[in-house]
Amino acid sequence: MKPTLPLLTALLLAPLAVLNVSAEEWFAPFQRVADYKPKGPTHCFRQFNHDWSYVARHPDQLPELLREADPVALAELCRQTHVDGTVVMAVPHHGYCTHETRVGKKFPGMKGDWFGRTIEELHKRKIAAFGYVTLNWNWKFMRENAGQPFIHLDLKKSQPGGQISGLICLNAPSYLELVEAYTREVLENYPVDGMRWDILMSAKHCTCEGCKRRFQELYQRELTQWADFDEQRHMDFYLATTRRAVERLHALCKRIKPSVEIWQNCLNSYHDNDLDAGRLLDIAYNEHSDSFRLLFLRGVMNKPAVINGLMTGNTPTEPLVALDRRQWRTGLALGGRCYSYYGFRQANPRTLLPSDTMLAWHREQLAPFYKMVSEIEPWLQDAVPVSHIGIVFSERTRFQFPKYNRSPYVKTMEPIANACLQRSAPVEFVNALDLDKPLSRFKLLIAPLTSGLNETELEHLRRYVHDGGNLLVGGDARPFPSSGKGKVVHLRNLNSSEIIDRLAGPAPVIVQPPESRVILTRQEKQRRWVLHLLDDGPCTVEIRREFAAPTKIAHQYPASGWQCVAESAGTGLRIQISGQATDRLLVLE
Ligand SMILES: [Zn+2]
Repeated sequence: MKPTLPLLTALLLAPLAVLNVSAEEWFAPFQRVADYKPKGPTHCFRQFNHDWSYVARHPDQLPELLREADPVALAELCRQTHVDGTVVMAVPHHGYCTHETRVGKKFPGMKGDWFGRTIEELHKRKIAAFGYVTLNWNWKFMRENAGQPFIHLDLKKSQPGGQISGLICLNAPSYLELVEAYTREVLENYPVDGMRWDILMSAKHCTCEGCKRRFQELYQRELTQWADFDEQRHMDFYLATTRRAVERLHALCKRIKPSVEIWQNCLNSYHDNDLDAGRLLDIAYNEHSDSFRLLFLRGVMNKPAVINGLMTGNTPTEPLVALDRRQWRTGLALGGRCYSYYGFRQANPRTLLPSDTMLAWHREQLAPFYKMVSEIEPWLQDAVPVSHIGIVFSERTRFQFPKYNRSPYVKTMEPIANACLQRSAPVEFVNALDLDKPLSRFKLLIAPLTSGLNETELEHLRRYVHDGGNLLVGGDARPFPSSGKGKVVHLRNLNSSEIIDRLAGPAPVIVQPPESRVILTRQEKQRRWVLHLLDDGPCTVEIRREFAAPTKIAHQYPASGWQCVAESAGTGLRIQISGQATDRLLVLE
């Protein structure tokens, strides 16, 4: 069908409409839910998830869950800790609902519409509320369907009539339809600012009716028994199963309300799922943060932001861990949005609030840090780290490893990225699917083991070298001969920062002492740069003009307690920094 002109115009305008929502429009009064302008997680730098999905797992405890849950108390806690966005669970793993539902069943001990009232209280305090529906681990569904071929209980961790563990097959007849129905209720009836599903996993080697049907559709063959098929077919089927869940939920949400940002977990370097499926989502999600994976996901999924989980776990008996300000600040400078569900095992099932010990952590550790983040937010928005080295990633590379294991490939990239970050020169990951975009900002592209590139993608790399870029190819990947201004170098082992430095040339930023770390970012819209100083104490920073050409310091944060002097140097700008303030940054124009 040929699209009509109005349809085409609508499609073209849709993303623009999303981008054009200004800060004043967020949390504005609205007539219909459809008119509400969501403030997605991309715009929330201080997220915290008061997660209670993992408490009161025994069915006997169900009646006590949410019995005294007070939306005002939860929203006030978020406000007091300077949180600007939080997950609100509509259907947690327990499988019951906190929202008004026709397709599901509400928590028996809950009073009224906890979900709707919590969103309302959060919005009154200008805090974004992200809807949450569990995708797998729906224990109610698992209990009610135990014994069916699509329910795969972990028998060691499941007791009859008690707590259960295991996985649902995502091809189970009518199961994805149920998740879609929950999602539709949330999106159509509530002014959520984002939508997130949990546990993008499926049971492997299932032979339920749904799997048989799907297998026939995909391969025009009957799924007899899994032993009849090779390992590759097992993996292909698994990837197709989880990818279908991402695609269907994406299609549903974009049909209902395209301006609501959506995301899933279990899309990371250490998960089986197809990372390219994550490109359908609006923001990447790095559940257990570290700087390497933050950069990796941001580039591979080609997203402006990554929800960056900075602490998880902790049982009531473990001592609390102090917030690592340097690590949290690094994440922010690299495009992360602070996020955590630290202490989730200590949530009180009746009130859904943290324990007294955890409350002290929120008050003493999180609140002052998030207050500082709220102050530096103008310099974090739409900021991109200045990189001169790119690492080319292709998801197809994993297909050459047994069980499509991605980890040997990731292991070649991780030390390169970490070494560069250590020298204040963060790399940027470039998905092979994005090689058609401008590459000239990179002095060097590295393809460590990267394989499976198609002819068009290779042609983009050839043009990059032709125009003067250098390409370093590692491991078994086969290089092509250089024909142009740039060099193509092949190395079996990429553990040589000397060669990388030689091919990349001088970094955009040089710091003395070298162990002092900084990150330089660019805010294109505001036409300025931001220099994040991640360590305290004196240092000298030289910024090379060919990468960033500021002429003056426009602003310093914090305003007092430290000094900086900028002077023009041969290659650019040299800044001498002294004084003992913490959480420092400079705005350069
Ligand atoms: Zn199945």
